[in-house]
Amino acid sequence: MHHFVYCNGVLHAEDVPLPQIAAEVGTPFYCYSSATITRHYLVFREALKGLDPSIYFAMKANSNLAVLRTLADLGAGCDVVSGGEFQVALTAGVKAAKIVFSGVGKTDEEIQLAVAGGVGQINVESEAELASVSRIASALGKTVRIALRVNPDVAAGTHDKISTGRKEDKFGIDWSLVPGLYRKARALPGISATAIAVHIGSQITSLAPFEAAFTKVRDLTLQLRAEGFEINHLDLGGGLGIPYDHLSNTTPPSPAEYGDMVRRVLGGLGCKLSFEPGRLIVGNAGIMVAKVVVMKDSPAKKFAIVDAAMNDLVRPAMYGARHEILPVIEAPLSPGLTPVDVVGPICETSDRFAQDYPLPPLKAGDLVAFMTAGAYGASMSSAYNSRPLIPEVMVQGDRYAVVRRRPSLAEMLALEQLPPWLADEPKGA
Ligand SMILES: *Cc1c(COP(=O)(O)O)cnc(C)c1O
Repeated sequence: MHHFVYCNGVLHAEDVPLPQIAAEVGTPFYCYSSATITRHYLVFREALKGLDPSIYFAMKANSNLAVLRTLADLGAGCDVVSGGEFQVALTAGVKAAKIVFSGVGKTDEEIQLAVAGGVGQINVESEAELASVSRIASALGKTVRIALRVNPDVAAGTHDKISTGRKEDKFGIDWSLVPGLYRKARALPGISATAIAVHIGSQITSLAPFEAAFTKVRDLTLQLRAEGFEINHLDLGGGLGIPYDHLSNTTPPSPAEYGDMVRRVLGGLGCKLSFEPGRLIVGNAGIMVAKVVVMKDSPAKKFAIVDAAMNDLVRPAMYGARHEILPVIEAPLSPGLTPVDVVGPICETSDRFAQDYPLPPLKAGDLVAFMTAGAYGASMSSAYNSRPLIPEVMVQGDRYAVVRRRPSLAEMLALEQLPPWLADEPKGA
């Protein structure tokens, strides 16, 4: 469910017509719906009622300050994966105690920053990291709550590049090593190790892998308790998938079905439960709007070349992801749809958003919307081809605001300088 719908033949974000935003900020741009973000957060929370859940938004999905503040105002914390994200979350108004620090390669500097700043929990991914957190926290005179992130060795059934819970993946602590590490953790100063964390991947469209992983976590909890460890907190990660593409007919489980499964598998343990959804909260709450630069017909193909590219939305190039594409001006019934390749202007064949995608006749200047671009869209974008990062706009009702503006070329170049031996006038004619 989202708030991007046609009204009088024009695609709107809530009550704002998208052509109005395009005219003001220029294309391409990202557009987020405040109502959709709010709705998804509340639906997820409602699905977990009775479990006393703590919800930490995985901000690598979307780290825009306005998105984070919207969620923080609803009571969400943040799951962060770098020192930078920790600071951005604080800047957005998230309390340090409501931040969980995840990530497979935290540096000492990042751990120091988080512990000194009062981070709520650190999800530890190796024995060496456990020692670092203990050393850094004790030096600061602090005790930090840690969870060992376990690798449950389950296949998430999702894209290979976003599976994180198989034993050959770099993430988490191998199942066989976990009890020994809890034993070590108990003896270390500066940490309180009463939690277990698990996160098996992203865009997971079936409950089975979650259930397999959570069942293993339950068994581990009982085993550790039997050995005399106190385990009172489980962090179940994120990863619940969302529908991207109306052509492919995948229907991921609903938050309610996910919640029922969690209740069934883990409800009786008396543990506090944490969740780290990213994509589920913001995926459908954002779109990317682009303009057709030129239509190109060749005997083999029809191409719509748009002004957005793989640097703005990398998911199709990186994961073969398919985003629904809608014309901003609703298609007339006739002459119907024809298959078009929708591509960007970058000199890479992978700079292609869709292949043989059914679209109405388009012409230069027409606007198209790439749906479900709110997660891993702007946050993964780059300035490849010296293309400035595109603006982000948030809509609320009939209001909208630019929440990240397009940088000028001068701003993009501000970090570069010529070395002294090249600083004179250019030598070329
Ligand atoms: C990426 C990530 C998430 C969020 O995953 P989604 O698929 O966006 O829900 C949660 N927890 C951890 C540790 C992650 O790395």
